[in-house]
Amino acid sequence: MKKPNVVILGAGYGGLMTTVRLQKMVGVNEANITLVNKNDYHYETTWLHEASAGTLHHDRVRYPIADVIDRNKVNFVKDTVVKIVPDEKRVILQNGELSYDYLVVALGFESETFGIKGLKEYAFSIANVNASRQIREHIEYQFATYNTEEEKRDERLTIVVGGAGFTGIEFLGELVNRVPVLCREYDIDPHKVRIICVEAAPTALPGFDPELVEYAVGLLERKGVEFKIGTAIKECTPDGIIVAKGDEIEEIKAGTVIWAAGVRGSYVIDESGFEAMRGRVKVDPFLRAPGHDNIFIVGDCSLVINEETNRPYPPTAQIAMQQGELCAKNLAVLIREQGELQPFKPDIKGTVCSLGHDDAIGVVFGKKMWGTKASFMKKMIDNRALYLIGGPSLVMKKGKFKFF
Ligand code: FAD
Ligand code: NAD
Repeated sequence: MKKPNVVILGAGYGGLMTTVRLQKMVGVNEANITLVNKNDYHYETTWLHEASAGTLHHDRVRYPIADVIDRNKVNFVKDTVVKIVPDEKRVILQNGELSYDYLVVALGFESETFGIKGLKEYAFSIANVNASRQIREHIEYQFATYNTEEEKRDERLTIVVGGAGFTGIEFLGELVNRVPVLCREYDIDPHKVRIICVEAAPTALPGFDPELVEYAVGLLERKGVEFKIGTAIKECTPDGIIVAKGDEIEEIKAGTVIWAAGVRGSYVIDESGFEAMRGRVKVDPFLRAPGHDNIFIVGDCSLVINEETNRPYPPTAQIAMQQGELCAKNLAVLIREQGELQPFKPDIKGTVCSLGHDDAIGVVFGKKMWGTKASFMKKMIDNRALYLIGGPSLVMKKGKFKFF
């Protein structure tokens, strides 16, 4: 019998989880497994706010893919996926192409700017390791430049964060700890620095527990963040942003604008002709693209409806990893032509949002927590993600052990 070709696109949480689980389940003679990723490293997307603020070195958030895959069973290709041609079972890469019998699409998220003018050109987004490095360096450049100019431009020291969702709040939590360090380093009066968070909804962290939201906003305000709630970013310019609250329009001059107000699935989904909403394909119960029984879609490129609320689950690493685990099991069923495909049943354990390295808020197994307890829990969650993919040795290498 011909060995099927299994191609996995993307080595984020969903793709890498699929790969490491599948390599344990199938023998060398059962399938050819190929993993494709832009870089030869995996990064912890859930730690990128730390690398962006500069509170964690970017090398701490990534590790070589070679450390966790079994090279006897998995062929790794470092390349960028351009397009999938489902009718011909082909994947077009920047430097070649691959054919598949079974495909897993796990290409993750991109920033969604909703067509707002100027955001693509002038704002930064926390999207990957290199984008995070650029944000850290840009902020540092603004601080370094401030005192070298004869005519001081205070707006250099204004940082705007668009969106008070989990990404915006976690980034602010790091930034408020980083700014005092930068002020000391570059001889800057801390009172000159402004950190402004602009959120369109009537509250920060819309939909999250109001008491915990109050805790987070209070903590960030005490550390210097100005919140503009119920205010939408309408435009980004080389000098800052234009916002609107009802009929009131305001210009805020800022040297740095971080757009953390929306994500979408990969552009490859649209390029490949899948029916999708903002790059997210509504998958069948077994995680396959409708009409394509040999294509699985996991992570932020997939859309799964929560039947209790009739709304899509928010795209999270938690879901991406659970999907990867199931996807590996379903691939093993198809490869062996034995057993039955299992439907995806998310097991949401909770949400913890960090507020710097020593504080956090969260709801875990239905229980509210905040402060050092929540912060400890957040680090345990980060370490667990490492453990699930690379076992104890990866936790020892990359884990977070400084708890307070
Ligand atoms: P990703 O993790 O984004 O991985 C995609 C992979 O595909 C990457 O390796 C990328 O390099 C590669 N790739 C992309 N395009 C191409 C291409 N064209 N060709 C080749 N390779 C490509 N979720 C939680 O559950 N808990 C959290 O605490 C949490 N914190 C977060 C903090 C931040 C700052 C952010 C931005 C998100 C956070 N999330 C969190 C959401 C979570 O990170 C995502 O839902 C998750 O990363 C999705 O996993 P994925 O495997 O779909 O994609
Ligand atoms: P999000 O979509 O969850 O939040 C974006 C926020 O931006 C919303 O509050 C929205 O009202 C606001 N917004 C939208 N347009 C705006 C505008 N024009 N001006 C001002 N505000 C505007 O996006 P996110 O925070 O990047 O999160 C993406 C996904 O990653 C979510 O599923 C989230 O749950 C997940 N995530 C989880 C964690 C965690 O669990 N700790 C951390 C980060 C991200």
